Amino acid sequence: MKKHNFSAGPCILPESVLKQASEAILNFDDLNLSLIEISHRSKNVVAVMDEAMALVKELMGLPEGYSVLFLQGGASLEFLMVPYNLMKEGGKAAYLETGTWAKKARQEAEAFGDVTVVGNSSDKNFSYIPKGYEVPADADYFHSTSNNTIYGTQMKSFPKVNCLNVCDMSSDIFSRNLDFSQFDLIYAGAQKNMGPAGTTLVVVKDEILGKTGRKIPTMLDYNTHIAKESMFNTPPVFAIYTSMLTLRWLKENGGIDWIENINNQKAELLYGEIDRNPLFAGTAAVEDRSYMNACFLLNDESAHKESFDNMLKEGGINGLNGHRSVGGYRASMYNALPLSSVEALLEIMRELERKA
Ligand code: PMP
Repeated sequence: MKKHNFSAGPCILPESVLKQASEAILNFDDLNLSLIEISHRSKNVVAVMDEAMALVKELMGLPEGYSVLFLQGGASLEFLMVPYNLMKEGGKAAYLETGTWAKKARQEAEAFGDVTVVGNSSDKNFSYIPKGYEVPADADYFHSTSNNTIYGTQMKSFPKVNCLNVCDMSSDIFSRNLDFSQFDLIYAGAQKNMGPAGTTLVVVKDEILGKTGRKIPTMLDYNTHIAKESMFNTPPVFAIYTSMLTLRWLKENGGIDWIENINNQKAELLYGEIDRNPLFAGTAAVEDRSYMNACFLLNDESAHKESFDNMLKEGGINGLNGHRSVGGYRASMYNALPLSSVEALLEIMRELERKA
């Protein structure tokens, strides 16, 4: 039986997607050829790229004027591409530092110009989202991280800014409906809610590009990839195909509204138990709790950790260990994780309480 997969990323994908993706490895589109042994310029692969781009636009409800790209280098390369493409020579950027990934993004930008950290929650181990901060109007862009994968916090609202608005949505993209048009650039590694590692989704408003006065290396220039529809060089076909299948799965089931409703149910169930069960405590500020990654601790590790870990193992629960910088446990409840997996985890938490 398949394990309950709470892995933080790469993470669970829909079973039907895994099945179709594995079939395409052997025989893609009844061509009697594998998806990964044919030209990326073949008609069938170009159709996959086109469908993936169209699904992103449709699911996010994007207005005209945005390009969708499937790039390589992970979300980490976007930490660099964003300032390269958006920070003017001698310019300035504003960063909201809500965790490890936000900090890494900010550090890359520092190589390009003046960086202001408008809010920073490192004083409490990134367990909350800073509020009431000001974004300077003379910044070239504001960068935030919608979901803090490691520390389990999530931005519930986004500031209105007078500069370009950039968001790293790697760990909650397609999990909840937002007004995506408030952002000028969104990026996300595929390996949470979309597909396998190997491609990064970038959604960018065309009109913001080409205005920095910088000479941008070809591969790092978004305009290169827009002009060639993500086929400037060989794209990671398998990662894009699998992402396309996941986006199709999402659309066929009712889109982001459908999944958001299920994600809310999963998170409310689990946080409800963390708050009710006297053996456990959540680590993130309640109002900022992530609906994708729930971080929690055992109040008395020495008394309960061994039994809890054994029960998790016996119950087929995978990937629940917390990140080393938080400790404890982290239940990642990405889109493809069924409600029944959360129920299975709850049963074990209740059983631990009964035994204690
Ligand atoms: N941003 C966030 C929010 C992440 O969770 C991660 C990876 N877990 C990254 C960026 C880095 O992504 P990648 O490994 O694709 O470079």
